[in-house]
Amino acid sequence: MSNSKKFSRRDVLAASGAIIATSLVPRISLAADKVTEDDATAVALGYLHDASKVDTAKWAKRAGDAGANQFCKNCALYVDQGDGWGACSIFQGRLVNGNGWCNAWISK
Ligand code: SF4
Repeated sequence: MSNSKKFSRRDVLAASGAIIATSLVPRISLAADKVTEDDATAVALGYLHDASKVDTAKWAKRAGDAGANQFCKNCALYVDQGDGWGACSIFQGRLVNGNGWCNAWISK
């Protein structure tokens, strides 16, 4: 008797479903991860959750009237998630605060 006859069709389908579900979990949790301000990319780009706290002496792009209107929520790289946070392609789809900012800001 071959080994293939020991597994029912239901067993194979259940195992396939478990493998697919397991492979999706890391992607879902990564997509929902919020960027932390001490993340290496965040530090390099001056990302902060609250754009009003950006040191404009260090990050001149956000200085002045034009700079004061720069937020993640009006950046071309921001995809709103509807809860005050949005996915940012600079951070591989991880979430940034809509009121945040980084030096990669681009007008929508
Ligand atoms: S690239 Fe845009 S959306 Fe992403 S962190 Fe910087 S300002 Fe925010």
